[in-house]
Amino acid sequence: MQRILTKDTTKYLGKKVRVCGWVNSRRDHGKVIFIDLRDRSGFLQVVFTPQDKKVYQVAQKLRPEWVIEITGEIAERPKGMENPKMETGKIEIKVKELKVDSEAKTIPFAIDTDGYEIGEEKRLKYRYLDIRRKRLQKNLRLRHQLVKFIRDFMDQKGFVDIETPLLTRSTPEGARDYVVPSRLYPGKFYALPQSPQQYKELLMVGGIERYFQLPRAMRDEDPRAERQPEHTQWDFEMSFVEQDEIMDVLEEGIVKLTKHLEPLTGKKLLAKPLPRLTYSETMKNYGTDKPDIRPEPKDPNILAFAWIIDFPLFEWSKEEKRWDPVHHMFVLPKKGQEKLLDTDPGKVISTQFDLVCNGYEICSGSLRIHKRDLQEKVMQMIGLDLKKAREQFGHLLQALEFGAPPHGGAAPGIDRLAMLYAGEPNIREVIAFPKTGDARDPMMNTPSEISKEQLKELHLNIEKEKKKK
Ligand code: ASP
Repeated sequence: MQRILTKDTTKYLGKKVRVCGWVNSRRDHGKVIFIDLRDRSGFLQVVFTPQDKKVYQVAQKLRPEWVIEITGEIAERPKGMENPKMETGKIEIKVKELKVDSEAKTIPFAIDTDGYEIGEEKRLKYRYLDIRRKRLQKNLRLRHQLVKFIRDFMDQKGFVDIETPLLTRSTPEGARDYVVPSRLYPGKFYALPQSPQQYKELLMVGGIERYFQLPRAMRDEDPRAERQPEHTQWDFEMSFVEQDEIMDVLEEGIVKLTKHLEPLTGKKLLAKPLPRLTYSETMKNYGTDKPDIRPEPKDPNILAFAWIIDFPLFEWSKEEKRWDPVHHMFVLPKKGQEKLLDTDPGKVISTQFDLVCNGYEICSGSLRIHKRDLQEKVMQMIGLDLKKAREQFGHLLQALEFGAPPHGGAAPGIDRLAMLYAGEPNIREVIAFPKTGDARDPMMNTPSEISKEQLKELHLNIEKEKKKK
């Protein structure tokens, strides 16, 4: 008999059905045993009576989180026994057959709460149990809706979903690279991408014109509660556009996405079209470039998306005593600003635009440099000597000499968006298997050591850290 979901059982009054799932809870009322069966769609009350001895004996052993299959008849609950809080609260299943698929040990924490009260280390160690929690089930399903909407939207707008490599070389986005040693080339390493930035620009040179991908971006940064070593982006790039056209596409996506998710989230936009604020006025008025522009008191059901524009191209690094890019080294200065590169680099305004929401940065985007001489100039200004720049970025510099279209794009953070739509305080709540704030996975117990043989094969020698005296 085919299994049906508990939420559909209401359509089968008086009929025989088969349902499967986990024992959520168990109550014994005299001789009668009640179980709430949980599956991905909800709950159903299961009733065992002593009449059928064989089934009843097994039922007596059932404990929370055992996995069972039940065949039985859907019946109305006796008067006064209905539970209006349950979708299937007017009915129950009277068991004919019971099969135990799996027994379960007592689980290490409660999963019928929202889980915020449980230590993170424990939750992540047993993440597969944590995911049984209603809140996480909801978050992961919401994230699915969000990702699906973005893919469909980008498809409708003529963007092509293209995968770019994970094993690559350094793609600087301002963090350290995660590196992968090469077995075949002793002493050489791949780097995991901090973003597909260079690939997507090369796809523009390749004539794709509209690219998108939901890639993982990997950045080896110092531990911080809000940080994940890998995050997912809504990465896109377009050719033959002005800055406003890129912002318009993303804005349309955000407006439609918010509306699409509203039945699930109850969240609305503060303003439409999204407000556009300049960097200098934002800094003056809010003291940060990620302002929360919601009026007081801050309504958690309002999403105050806004644009920040007219960023400077460079910021002065006191430590390094040189100019650093405010976003990255491929950002195009605004029209008419190029002269300032020689005379007053700190004053150069760029085509960078940031999308912010409720005090979080969602993304930076920009037009890109598509001329080799300008790209080399900017590279030198940020402290790369020409020889090194050509060695590290030769492929890109060369591509710019083979007919590169003007282009630009952005890459909103999917985890951040999912967090805001789900109303969660942390991105870990919308990632199935996140790492701790200090980049560990307590469940897989990683990072971990590798065997001597593996090290040898990879031509690696581990230096023991000297103990501090
Ligand atoms: N690659 C950039 C980032 O990861 C986004 C972009 O400029 O498109 O922030």
